[in-house]
Amino acid sequence: DRAGDYRILHEADLRDYLAGVPDIAALLGGGPASWAITEVGDGNLNLVFIVKGTKGGIAVKQALPYVRLVGESWPLPLSRAHYEYLALSKQAELAPGLVPALLHHNKPLALTVMELLEPHIIMRKGLVAATQYPGFVDDITTFMAQTLFFTSDLALSAAEKKEGIAAFAGNHALCKVTEDLIFTDPYRIAEQNRWTAPYLDGLAAELRDDMDLHVAISRLKLKFMASPEALLHGDLHTGSIMVTESQTRVIDPEFAFYGPMGFDVGAVLANLLMAYFASPGHERKAGERAAFEGWILETVERVWNEFARKFLDLWGAGAEGDAYPVSLFAGEKGAARLEAERQAYMQRLFTDAIGFTAAKTIRRIFGLAHNIDFELIEDPRRRAISEARAVRLARAMMVEAAAFPAIADVTGAARKLR
Ligand code: ADP
Ligand code: MG
Ligand code: MG
Ligand code: MG
Repeated sequence: DRAGDYRILHEADLRDYLAGVPDIAALLGGGPASWAITEVGDGNLNLVFIVKGTKGGIAVKQALPYVRLVGESWPLPLSRAHYEYLALSKQAELAPGLVPALLHHNKPLALTVMELLEPHIIMRKGLVAATQYPGFVDDITTFMAQTLFFTSDLALSAAEKKEGIAAFAGNHALCKVTEDLIFTDPYRIAEQNRWTAPYLDGLAAELRDDMDLHVAISRLKLKFMASPEALLHGDLHTGSIMVTESQTRVIDPEFAFYGPMGFDVGAVLANLLMAYFASPGHERKAGERAAFEGWILETVERVWNEFARKFLDLWGAGAEGDAYPVSLFAGEKGAARLEAERQAYMQRLFTDAIGFTAAKTIRRIFGLAHNIDFELIEDPRRRAISEARAVRLARAMMVEAAAFPAIADVTGAARKLR
C-alpha cells in the first residue's frame, strides 16, 4: 500500500482486486467470473461500481485524480476518498443505520467498498416523480442533530474538538471547490457558469451587479471558511441521500470538514425548496402534484423544527463539552439563563441555515453544477419560470434575512411565489 500504487480500476482490474479481498469475495459468493459489474456513477466526481455475486452485492467507489464532470484539466486530490471514509466511519458511529455500512477501504487506491443500497434510489429522482417519504424528516434530522452536536464544542472537550479539526484540515481542496463554485462564481463572469438562456440572462446580469448580494454571499463564504463548529457532511443535497419509502441513507461525504452547522442544514432545506419550485414544471395536468407540493413545504418546516428540537434535547441532556461550563450556570438562575442562551444559539443557527439555503439555491441555477429537479423540465421557458421563483426567494433570504425570523416565513414566501 504505497502512494504510487494508485491506478484506475476498470471492470477487469476491479474483479481481480475484489477477488483478492477474502471477506468481500465471500460476501459476493460464487467465482469472480460470475460477478456482474456495472458502473453507475452519476455524480460529478467519482467512479461508482455495483458488483453482484450469487450471494450478495456491494458498491465500490473510487476517486479519480480529477473532476469527472470536467475532465483531467481539473485535478482534484485522491485524498478526498480517505476523508470520505473517515467521515463515513464517524457518521456510522453517531447516526447508526443512516449511512451505508463500510466494508473495505484502500487508501492508496482511493477506493471504498460499502453496503449496496437496494432498492434505494437517489432521493432527488423520487422528488421529481412527486414521491413522498414519510420517514425522511425523522431520519435526516436525527442524522444532522447527532453528527453536528456530537462533533461540536457543546459535546467534546477542547482537545478532542481540535484533534477532529486537524483530522479533516487536509481536505481543503474540496472546501475550495465549494468556496469557488457556491460562494464566488455564480456572482461573477466565470467560464463554468451556465443558466437557462436567454430567459435568465437578465437575472444573471442583475446578480453580477448586486452589491448587497455580493456582501451577503461574501459573509456566508467567510462563515464557511472560518467557523469550525462541527464535522459537516459538506454536500448534503438530495443527490447525496438514498431512500425507499421507509428508509433513508446518507452517502457521499467526501466534502467533510469542520465548518458551520448551518451549511448542512441549509443544504437539505435548499434542495427541498428547489424540488418545490421545480414541481409545476413536471406537471402534465394542472394541480396533479398539489399533494406533493404541500408535503414538500411541510417537510421544509418539519426539518428545521425537528432538527432544532433534537439538537436542544441533546444539549439539555447533560452534555459535557468544554463550551458553556456547568459551573458557570449553577442554580435556578443559571439554569434559566442557559436555557435562554440555548434558544438564542438556535436562532443564530437558523439565520446561518437560511443564508446557506439561499447560497445553495443560486449556485444550482447560475453555476457549474445543476440539478435534475430543474434540468428535467424540458421546456426552457417553463424551467426558467421555476428557477426565477427560486432565485427571487433566495435573494430575499440572503439580503433581507430579518424578514425570515422563522421557518414558516420561508415556506410562506415560497407559497406566495408559486
Ligand atoms: P459522487 O461523489 O461522484 O457524487 P456518489 O457517492 O454520490 O458519487 O455516488 C454516485 C452514485 O452511485 C449515486 O448517485 C448512486 O446512484 C450510486 N451509489 C453510491 N453509493 C451507493 C451505494 N452504497 N449503493 C447503491 N448505489 C450507490
Ligand atoms: Mg454524489
Ligand atoms: Mg455535488
Ligand atoms: Mg461526491
